[in-house]
Amino acid sequence: MKREWDLLHTPGPTPIPPSVDRSMSQPMIGHRGEKCKELMQDIAPRLKPVFGTSGDVLVITGSGTSALESAVVNATQPGDEVLVVVAGAFGDRFAQICQTYELNVHRLDVTWGEAVKVEEVTQALQENPEIKAVFVTHCETSTGVMHPVEAVAEKVKEVSEALVIVDGVSSIGGAGLNMDASGIDILVSGSQKAMMLPAGLAFVAVADSAWTVIDQNPRPRFYLDLRVYRKQLMAGQTPYTPALSLLFGLQEALRLLEEETLEKVYERHALMKQMTREAFQALQIPLLVSDGEASTTVTSVRPETFEAEQLRKLAREEFGLQLAGGQKQLKGEIFRVGHMGYSRPANVLQYIGIIEIILKRLGHTFEPGAGTAAAQAAYLDFTRED
Ligand SMILES: *Cc1c(COP(=O)(O)O)cnc(C)c1O
Repeated sequence: MKREWDLLHTPGPTPIPPSVDRSMSQPMIGHRGEKCKELMQDIAPRLKPVFGTSGDVLVITGSGTSALESAVVNATQPGDEVLVVVAGAFGDRFAQICQTYELNVHRLDVTWGEAVKVEEVTQALQENPEIKAVFVTHCETSTGVMHPVEAVAEKVKEVSEALVIVDGVSSIGGAGLNMDASGIDILVSGSQKAMMLPAGLAFVAVADSAWTVIDQNPRPRFYLDLRVYRKQLMAGQTPYTPALSLLFGLQEALRLLEEETLEKVYERHALMKQMTREAFQALQIPLLVSDGEASTTVTSVRPETFEAEQLRKLAREEFGLQLAGGQKQLKGEIFRVGHMGYSRPANVLQYIGIIEIILKRLGHTFEPGAGTAAAQAAYLDFTRED
């Protein structure tokens, strides 16, 4: 049985704000009627600032992976040379999608837990001048690294004609990207991470530079043909039946982001990162990622004195606190704390307090309250008005 007091702190799905929940229970409407048109025409422009673009943000009914796949099928042709930065499970997924669609994939493998360096990307482009697109993940959710995708995009634009395609599934809504200014051509995201919604919506922001390639691309595609989504969006429509309840929820989620302001939303995520990291440091438990490369939406912790899986199990059983484990090569090595979307500094104080109790149970040696005190100090420091 699902306990309603469970505390969901996985890096997706994430908790849903009550007002978003209520919005999603509105009565169903016809998707070819006036009301749906109003809904789409309301949502479309309000998504743009969240993606840092003045271009189109298309909404597909599908999970985040459908947005990744749509970028690949629309912007590439079989045999194209592409560069994929692989620094974790999601970079690897992008590479797999590219392979599936018969691209000539150059993998730029980066140690899991580290960010790619801009020079590594430019070097790969110099070695392979035929590369037509560079795929990179913004927040690599499997490790908690945030790659410098804006700097990568700027540099790629300087030295080549390649498109820059960014997976922002676990960052958009929690961390800002200036898509237009940095030269990112396609930025994709999903609904169930920092966007405060259930899974089911995929977002694809497309810059004019990418439309040129997409419009001329002869590759066959149907459900994920972005040209059809753009055409329908202009008429306030979607090509196929949209997930209407999620669109109602999206309308409210956007209102919440606007009310708080995006700037404050991003600051709140940076604060939660800081509080979480300083707490684990004070508890003498190593973090997987360095300060400068760590994500503001998810923190990976690599314990040495106890089993990560044991902590996750006890936290879940005793307090209903849901944390994520490691994926693939990091399975059993790390646990991950999601602090994105409908998550606030108060929640950080709560999960750190819980984790301290579990650490006692596991026999980890630390000064009682040290984690909580460090999180409190980080909070006070961050919010101090000088
Ligand atoms: C969650 C996630 C995805 C998409 O996953 P879906 O299960 O298809 O929604 C893609 N990339 C990243 C970085 C993610 O965190």
